[in-house]
This record gives sequence, structure tokens and C-alpha cells, in this order.
Amino acid sequence: VICAAQEFDFFYFVQQWPGSYCDTKKSCCYPTTGKPPSDFGIHGLWPNYKDGSYPSNCDPNNSYDQSKISDLISRMQQDWATLACPSNSGSTFWSHEWDKHGTCSESVLDQHSYFRAALNLKSKIDLLQILQSAGINPDGGFYSLSSIKSTISNAIGYTPYIECNVDEDGNSQLYQIYVCVDSSGSNLIECPVFPRGKCGSNIEFPSF
Ligand code: 5GP
Ligand code: 5GP
Ligand code: 5GP
Repeated sequence: VICAAQEFDFFYFVQQWPGSYCDTKKSCCYPTTGKPPSDFGIHGLWPNYKDGSYPSNCDPNNSYDQSKISDLISRMQQDWATLACPSNSGSTFWSHEWDKHGTCSESVLDQHSYFRAALNLKSKIDLLQILQSAGINPDGGFYSLSSIKSTISNAIGYTPYIECNVDEDGNSQLYQIYVCVDSSGSNLIECPVFPRGKCGSNIEFPSF
């Protein structure tokens, strides 16, 4: 049997902490639908190769069509909130994510399945609850990177990657959490490769 071309190896499922997007020099804008929940939000579901590189913008003939996901929009407003300026409902962010990343997994997930897969992963992995049950709270305090990582690893069974950014005072803080997902978009896996970037050994977890 001849198999379809392997277009990518796995996904990064990336969630962002809104407090860390907003307390930077650049600041943020709430969506037109109101302040998002004080919870991690989806950034994206990104096809990746196991050598660390990744495809992008794979199909200009399959651009974002919100009418295909109208049944998912209320969940997306909750769980995939945009914080970029100027304020909008979220469709600018969602269309960017589909066009840049989603089109690169279209052989596996059509547009509706792609957004649904991300929403289902978010409901399966409750990062805030995992961290809070270990006493790691979004209270502006500093927590060790290793305790954040081991808490998540112990809860989900796989090692996450933590991306930091800096707040207005220059403090390294918890910005995004990456977990790896198999190419079906539904099962967590150990990451074949980790992104690279710097965090402090103690990082801030700002409030939102
Ligand atoms: P940044 O340069 O802010 O880390 O990333 C900018 C954008 O590049 C991200 O929003 C994402 O679209 C893409 N990107 C960055 N790193 C990765 C990666 O390791 N894998 C994939 N698939 N996309 C990435
Ligand atoms: P990426 O290319 O890294 O997947 O996505 C980043 C792009 O999405 C940027 O152009 C950014 O302006 C836009 N964007 C819209 N809303 C958000 C948001 O809430 N968080 C992040 N990180 N990017 C957002
Ligand atoms: P180790 O191999 O001991 O886990 O980490 C080696 C280096 O990578 C250390 O400087 C550590 O701070 C950094 N590091 C480990 N895990 C992460 C992570 O999830 N995110 C970031 N940004 N750096 C990490």
C-alpha cells in the first residue's frame, strides 16, 4: 500500500497565560466579547517536524472559513481568546492560526476537526487546575521552573516545555506551555524535540 505523504510528524499544542501577554511593555487588548477567563487560553495547534523545523502556510486555496465552525465559536471565545490589539472578536487570531498552521495538517484534520481537536485538548489538560493543586498560583509570586515542569509532568505523564517572556520590569515569567500531540491531534506524546529559549530558574506567575 502506498501511504499518503507524511506532511508533519507531531503537533505542539500551545497554551498562553493571559496575564503574561498583557503585563508586558506592549500590553494587550481584550476581545470585543469581554475580558477572557483567568485561565490558560489556546494559542495554537502547530504541526512540526521531529528535526525541530515546521511547515507553515501550506494551502492558500483552503483559507479560514468561519461558517465551517459556527458551532464552535462560543467555546473558542472562552478557550481561545485573542489578546492582540486592536480588539476584535477573535477571528483575526483564529484565521491566522488556521492559515499558518492548520492548513499544514489538512490531510489529517479538516477545518472543523482542527479547531475541535484543539478545544478537546484544552478540556483534557487543565493546566491551571494542575498548577494550583500544587500551590502554584497566579498571584504574582515566583516559582521554580523545575517545580512547574515536574508538577505538569506528574499530572499528564509527559514533559512540557515552558516559554517565558518578560514583564514591564524585566522579570522572566510563565508565558506559554507546550505539550506534544500525535499526528491525529488527539493523544499526548513525549516531545520528539523541544523548542529552545530562555527562562529564569525562578519565574513569575502573574495574576490576570
Ligand atoms: P516566536 O518567534 O514568537 O517564538 O514565534 C512566532 C511564531 O512562529 C509562533 O506564533 C508560531 O506561529 C511559530 N513558531 C515558533 N516556534 C515554533 C515551533 O517550534 N513550531 C511551530 N510549528 N511553530 C513555531
Ligand atoms: P503565531 O504566528 O505565533 O502562531 O501567532 C502569533 C500571531 O497571532 C501574531 O500575529 C499575533 O499578533 C496574533 N495574535 C492574535 N491574538 C493573539 C494572542 O492572544 N496571543 C498571541 N500570542 N498572538 C496573538
Ligand atoms: P535540563 O536539561 O537540566 O532540564 O535544562 C538545561 C537548561 O535548559 C537549563 O538552563 C534549564 O533552565 C533550561 N530548561 C529546561 N527546561 C526548560 C523549559 O521547559 N523551558 C525553558 N525555556 N528552558 C528550560
